[in-house]
Amino acid sequence: MVNSISVLGSTGSIGTQTLDVAEKLHISVCALTAYSNIDLLEKQIRKFRPKLAVVFLEEQAQKLKERIKDTKTCVMSGMKGLISAAEIDSADIVLNALVGMVGLEPTLRAVEAKKNIALANKETLVAGGSLVMNAVTKNGVHLYPVDSEHSAVFQCLQGRPDEKSLKKIILTASGGPFFGKTKSELENVTLAQALNHPNWSMGAKITIDSATMMNKGLEIIEAYWLFGVDADQIDVVVHRESIVHSMIMYRDNSVIAQLGLPDMRIPIQYALTYPGRFESPTGELDLSQVENLSFSKPDYDTFKCMSLCKKALKIGGTAPAIVNGANETANRLFREDRIKFLQIGDLVENALENVAVTKADTLAQVLQADKSAREFVLSAVK
Ligand code: NAD
Ligand code: MG
Repeated sequence: MVNSISVLGSTGSIGTQTLDVAEKLHISVCALTAYSNIDLLEKQIRKFRPKLAVVFLEEQAQKLKERIKDTKTCVMSGMKGLISAAEIDSADIVLNALVGMVGLEPTLRAVEAKKNIALANKETLVAGGSLVMNAVTKNGVHLYPVDSEHSAVFQCLQGRPDEKSLKKIILTASGGPFFGKTKSELENVTLAQALNHPNWSMGAKITIDSATMMNKGLEIIEAYWLFGVDADQIDVVVHRESIVHSMIMYRDNSVIAQLGLPDMRIPIQYALTYPGRFESPTGELDLSQVENLSFSKPDYDTFKCMSLCKKALKIGGTAPAIVNGANETANRLFREDRIKFLQIGDLVENALENVAVTKADTLAQVLQADKSAREFVLSAVK
């Protein structure tokens, strides 16, 4: 088990659940970061006494500095602050629970500082998968998945005899709040309806990604980088109950699944204690109480974001970064009530068709693709 962690995005859904796990396991916390929520961050600082606290917004960082004068915690801001939290000496693992591409550079810097990573921030791998995985290999660090599907696959893979024995990864998808709906039924869905996820309580961005099923598309790309399989070795099956968190099939067609109640504290904890198992705050799964476990094919046509992610993966280079950047922008515009639900997929599709794809060998190339995709979406909705 780790002794000390740095938590990037500590005020979010994954961040707060990480602190819950850390407290119960007596893991010390050496850095905390937030975008702007200094009320919650202050409470976290007083409880965990980290060396460093980062508030992305400079003005809020100044306010926090005043408020916590009586503590020994140092306050920083901006990307510089996030990078300091990622590289901090005392951490033996950095848990990245930031949302969006903003997590890419801190992840790379943490890896270069020889830190192991517990990664919830899937956008990092979607946009910069090759950069991150090359850096992980070069620096000899470990990257542990936190995303529940990928943690499930990681757990199922233990005991794999050799590289060739893995035939398929089968990611489960809840289907989100709009499962079974037709395109015309989706035309006028509201933000409140899209935010009403049936099984998971998560941050707003990923909740909308679950409604469009972009989340599953991003997870296909995430699985591709994490587990070194070909794109066509990754399948998706809709499983409404979110009890089976994902599966793998070996070449003898034996299927291994990981099950549990839908509670992110299990995968978070496993990323921090691997290969150990400890008691957890999560409830016990009682299958006799679960009436039914259902499985069905996803609707790739209505939920085209999934297909677009597959397409981007096949194209390669910066195509996944373009899809991700376009989606981050379209997702935000929908949450700001500036576009309709189905426009999210349309905008991502148009960005993939129109923004030039380049190699994704350097951080600068990935950041440029992300920027161009965002600009494309913004100009398309003007
Ligand atoms: P969230 O919105 O609840 O929290 C995000 C955190 O990042 C907050 O602490 C916020 O202050 C910080 N942040 C946001 N934008 C920032 C910026 N521009 N600069 C600096 N800090 C910023 O999100 P979440 O639901 O906890 O998700 C975090 C990541 O984990 C996402 O990539 C998501 O896809 C992934 N994930 C989440 C869940 C879940 O159950 N919530 C499950 C699987 C994967
Ligand atoms: Mg997931």
